[in-house]
Amino acid sequence: MTVTDKILLLPDHIANQIAAGEVIQRPASAVKELLENAVDAGASSIQLIVADAGKSLIQVIDNGAGMSETDARMSFERHATSKIRSIEDLFHIRTMGFRGEALASIAAVAQVELKTKRAEDEAGTYIEIENSVVKRQEPVAIPDGTNISMKNLFFNVPARRSFLKSNAAEMRHIVDEFTRVALSYPHIFFSLTANGQQLFHLDKGNLKQRLLQLLGNSYNSKLVQVKEETDYMNIHGFAGKPETAKKTRGDQYFFVNNRFIKSPYLNHAVMNAYQQMIPADSYPMYVLFIDLDPAQVDVNVHPTKQEIKFEDEKIIYAFLQAAVKHALAQFSISPTLDFDLDASIQQLPSIQQPFTKQKEEAASSTRIFQGFTKKNQAHFIEKEELKHWRDFFETTENQKPEKPAAEETGQKPESVFYTESSIQTSDTNLQASTDLPVTQLLNTYILLPSAGGFLLIHQQAAHERIIYERLTEAAKGKSVAAQRSMFPVTIELSPADATLLEELLPDLSSFGYLIETFGKNTYVVQGTPADTEPGNEKKIIESMLEQFKHFSSELKFSKREKIIRSLAWQQAVKAGTLLSAKEMKAIVEELFQCSTPNISPNGSPTYLEFKKDYLEKLFRTS
Ligand code: ADP
Ligand code: MG
Repeated sequence: MTVTDKILLLPDHIANQIAAGEVIQRPASAVKELLENAVDAGASSIQLIVADAGKSLIQVIDNGAGMSETDARMSFERHATSKIRSIEDLFHIRTMGFRGEALASIAAVAQVELKTKRAEDEAGTYIEIENSVVKRQEPVAIPDGTNISMKNLFFNVPARRSFLKSNAAEMRHIVDEFTRVALSYPHIFFSLTANGQQLFHLDKGNLKQRLLQLLGNSYNSKLVQVKEETDYMNIHGFAGKPETAKKTRGDQYFFVNNRFIKSPYLNHAVMNAYQQMIPADSYPMYVLFIDLDPAQVDVNVHPTKQEIKFEDEKIIYAFLQAAVKHALAQFSISPTLDFDLDASIQQLPSIQQPFTKQKEEAASSTRIFQGFTKKNQAHFIEKEELKHWRDFFETTENQKPEKPAAEETGQKPESVFYTESSIQTSDTNLQASTDLPVTQLLNTYILLPSAGGFLLIHQQAAHERIIYERLTEAAKGKSVAAQRSMFPVTIELSPADATLLEELLPDLSSFGYLIETFGKNTYVVQGTPADTEPGNEKKIIESMLEQFKHFSSELKFSKREKIIRSLAWQQAVKAGTLLSAKEMKAIVEELFQCSTPNISPNGSPTYLEFKKDYLEKLFRTS
């Protein structure tokens, strides 16, 4: 080499340290790699022990397959892996690691001690390694499995060590990684001990138990199960009921083939499923597992990254959204909801295949198909899907409703019954309902036949939903029309209520409440929404304020959202109120024009559907 030549080959240990930087950025990355190795080794018990947020010690003890003496030594070589043999394997890989880089990286940037033993071996192997160099190797008596500790992370790369965050921050990252792995393997025992204190002790169980242990028991009874299976992909897990939505993005987990991933795109699909059930700026919890043929997933993305590429993203999007929506609908319309979604989802793979004319006709009538054919517009599936009206009231030739006998006797003045022409399948649902046979029960429920059984609508919940959507629309665009009162009413409020009202005045005026300040704590109501009855202004304002205060503890709602919810509650016809047939019909009609007709703004069901099968089961006639 002459003095003018500049290129040098990096010494091995420096090359290793640089390469390690990609895999091990912080203690939590090492935790992830070691936990995944233990899972891959088939362990049923995995203990994680850390000290100083992993900066001085990260230890993982598993009872998995262990390694032979040779493998133990080999495992620290770069690209040493037992998990792929050929490039073909890359497309079928189901284990967590496969590049054989983790242990090599760890050995380059920490002092490592490995003890490992296979069940079939008499003795285990002990290896001590530092700066990628084996310091000591000898037989050792240990239980079956692997016990690996890495000490003083980045001891030899001070620049990296100084980049580590506070112990609190690094520990949070460790808990995050631990949570992700522990969530995806509920049948494995996990524990996490930090500085001698056990933070988690997770007995083997099912996903729900694991979820509650990790994310908090407060989710108990607030979860809906998500489960859909098709030839193309499966999805399972839990989604939080709307009330679990929080102001901050928190407990949201996707796993694809059991690997945690981050995907704003898939998150969007889930958020879409919640649309109108939760305020726009809040985040529901979910823990969802998507399983599909590994060939449909690009594994060539670096394994330490959490992004993922799918062969066909749009199908996953649509499927996920439909599955979550289905689950949410089911919890709110128990006991007998049957959206036929399973059947239509089963059609998924066939969508990719060439269609015969016949097949096309059959499939294109399903809601999910309509979503798919809107190319590049998966986001619009929502609207298509929610036209529940037709699903309930469309009747086919052989399914025409019987005329109930009561009509002849005319005993129920509140009921109006089907005429032949009332059975409509047109898109304009309004026509269909002119002669809706509605009956009020207990001054609270509206009973009416549906195509396959009957519906029981809760009048207050339904009406709240209707008003809620109307006001939400109004908040987006044009204000609600107000009617000027002929005799404006003066109301006097407590100082606290007055302060509150003052704050709400501008918003209230866009919802049709024209209120002016009149003096200290006194207001004049100049107008009310055109579609409310005048005369009760004082009571209306007061109860609206009460309701608003009730919502005030709900940090997740914006001021506007709280006003809308308060007004919807305030204006809705209450349970226990006698309704005329006309009023009931108006509720039924408007409810099914809502984009989310099945639940009230606070998440309770607006109606229950009772299907023939279910009734037959109850009467044991089937
Ligand atoms: P990869 O997991 O990508 O194969 P690693 O560097 O993480 O690469 O591990 C290298 C190899 O060491 C693995 O393929 C596996 O055969 C072996 N190994 C690592 N950790 C364990 C463990 N806890 N139990 C048994 N074998 C292990
Ligand atoms: Mg690995």
